[in-house]
Amino acid sequence: MGEQPIFVVQQHAASTMHFDFRLEVDGVLASWAVPKGPSTDPRVKRLAVQVEDHSLGYRDFEGVIGERSYGAGAVIVWDTGTYENLSGDESMAAGLERGHVSVRLHGEKLRGGYTLQRTDTGRRPRWLLIKRRDEEADARRNPVSTEPRSVLSGRTVEEVAAEAGR
Ligand code: MN
Repeated sequence: MGEQPIFVVQQHAASTMHFDFRLEVDGVLASWAVPKGPSTDPRVKRLAVQVEDHSLGYRDFEGVIGERSYGAGAVIVWDTGTYENLSGDESMAAGLERGHVSVRLHGEKLRGGYTLQRTDTGRRPRWLLIKRRDEEADARRNPVSTEPRSVLSGRTVEEVAAEAGR
């Protein structure tokens, strides 16, 4: 068996604050913008708008995207780790095409199963990101609020923005 694929969640203070949820699939980062960020409560469905794939090199990007660029604003690596495809014999690529994938995350903040279910197609397909019911589910945790710091640098997205003199 080869190395496990990685996931990364980047907090992005663009025109509106959001979390970019990315899964390594076939050499690129399949990506979704999650306005409210991932939940650890299986009863909560979080909107995840699929956006363009990013290159794998973006996995550890932290810093400020310049004013004139799309997505201008500060970015931190809010969580990262490896993941497993839980969808039996179906490849991640096939699952993304079908509109349903299920993964087990091995991050510092996010652990256990998550499902992504597509609800709408189009240029920017809408999906729901939902915690699966397992031993890592915890309705009392709210890491988006209580664990705001980068797992790479320990900085908050506000600190990264301030250090860049914005
Ligand atoms: Mn973004």
